[in-house]
Amino acid sequence: MKLDSMYQEVILDHYKHPHGRGLRDGDAEVHHVNPTCGDEITLRVKLDGSKIVDVSYEGQGCSISQASASVMNELVVGRELDEAMKVQEVFLELMQSKGKLEPDDAMEEVLEDAVAFAGVSKYPARVKCALLSWMAWKDATAQALSERESA
Ligand code: ZN
Repeated sequence: MKLDSMYQEVILDHYKHPHGRGLRDGDAEVHHVNPTCGDEITLRVKLDGSKIVDVSYEGQGCSISQASASVMNELVVGRELDEAMKVQEVFLELMQSKGKLEPDDAMEEVLEDAVAFAGVSKYPARVKCALLSWMAWKDATAQALSERESA
């Protein structure tokens, strides 16, 4: 099996069986859209101190955007914020590599199923699809933190 088709398999599997989908209680909510593709996501973040207790979401759009939200949920829920931010940075680096970055074992260990989006980085229009949920998560987290400070 070629690597590309294995990756497609992973993306399709997350699309068909999304992790943590549905809106639950959260500290902040955001709505992000990717107008070039028509993807949308409403996302809530629930924090307990510096720990991410839950990331719940509802969305619609292409398989890449929806699968990416499922992978993101799997990667950040239950983690410490700084740890999750590091994962996000590695994913961003991969997605901005224009297909030039070949994920190695170390990257695979950090990104788990998110390495499946490596091939997507070759297509600038699809990169936005893959990053939509991650950007929404970052935005919601920043809002949750600033609301806590002003409380
Ligand atoms: Zn899309």
